[in-house]
Amino acid sequence: MGEFELIQRYFQRPSQEGTAAPSVRLGIGDDCALLLPQAGMELAISSDMLVEGRHFLPTAEPTGLGHKTLAVNLSDLAAMGAEPLCFTMALALPQVDAPWLEGFSQGLLALARDSQCPLVGGDTTRGPLNLCVTVLGQVPPHQALRRQNAQAGDDVYVSGTLGDARLALETLRGSVDLDGPALRRCLARLERPTPRLALGKALRGVAHAAADLSDGLLSDLGHILKASGVGATLDLDQLLAGAAMTPDLRQQPRPQQLTCLLSGGDDYELVFTAPTHRRDAVQQAAQQAGTPVHRIGHTHPGSGCMLISGGQALPQDTIRSYTGFDHFASPT
Ligand code: ADP
Ligand code: MG
Repeated sequence: MGEFELIQRYFQRPSQEGTAAPSVRLGIGDDCALLLPQAGMELAISSDMLVEGRHFLPTAEPTGLGHKTLAVNLSDLAAMGAEPLCFTMALALPQVDAPWLEGFSQGLLALARDSQCPLVGGDTTRGPLNLCVTVLGQVPPHQALRRQNAQAGDDVYVSGTLGDARLALETLRGSVDLDGPALRRCLARLERPTPRLALGKALRGVAHAAADLSDGLLSDLGHILKASGVGATLDLDQLLAGAAMTPDLRQQPRPQQLTCLLSGGDDYELVFTAPTHRRDAVQQAAQQAGTPVHRIGHTHPGSGCMLISGGQALPQDTIRSYTGFDHFASPT
């Protein structure tokens, strides 16, 4: 099968299947795609690469992988408060594996359709499996949720539940033992994350700063704190008692709970700050989006993140041990 046939068969879809978004004049097939962005909107652009052996195992189920490849990119739009327009995908494939391509494209294009974010172009080459998506979105001028806009005195929130993706990963690594149904639930979080697009959009004009949770709470919140020049204190007891933890994680020993909550990546929930006088507006946004949010702490002058439990601050060494994953932090 040639490159063109491959693209046509697996990635090109007739317009009635969702490729005819109003902003897309021309999709796959020419030298470029043509877009007609809404006048006056800011374009939001982000790329994310998934590399076999680094971001997913060679045994990863292809439909889930297709979903995740787009989901992690849409999550960046969500964290900015942007709505999706379309995406491109650069693909390196070791060989033409028809069942794999069938599953992968199905997962990818199902999420594309559900998110009204059509695939409009890309590149395909032979090579070690590598998936790189660039997503385009739009946001009204000056309303994007920047990392740098947190202010001292803001509340800190997270959406949904945290740690289940990490719990699944630990189970695959053999360090945690989950029963069948629990493992299925956690694997669903790891393999099929839900980008919080509706929440990001609803938080425009309400949240001061936001980021998505790809590397872990302490790490991703750390980006907001550093960019904004503020510190934060999180109430660990509130986090451990609250609804940010699923029953599956609640059944784990305390150290495992902390690892999953504080440094578990791959949840693709949102962490954000908002002024205290907007608490009602935050809850309204959560309700409108159908995604619960939990207040877990506050920001203040200073830097870095402090954790308190039983009125006591945890040692900084403990906190550092929960800082998230960095691809270049250790030799590989
Ligand atoms: P070019 O020679 O200009 O690089 P290609 O032959 O690579 O163009 O691609 C032909 C068309 O197919 C283009 O419209 C391109 O955007 C699209 N395309 C190529 N690979 C992909 C892919 N993986 N997903 C979606 N569209 C693709
Ligand atoms: Mg090309």
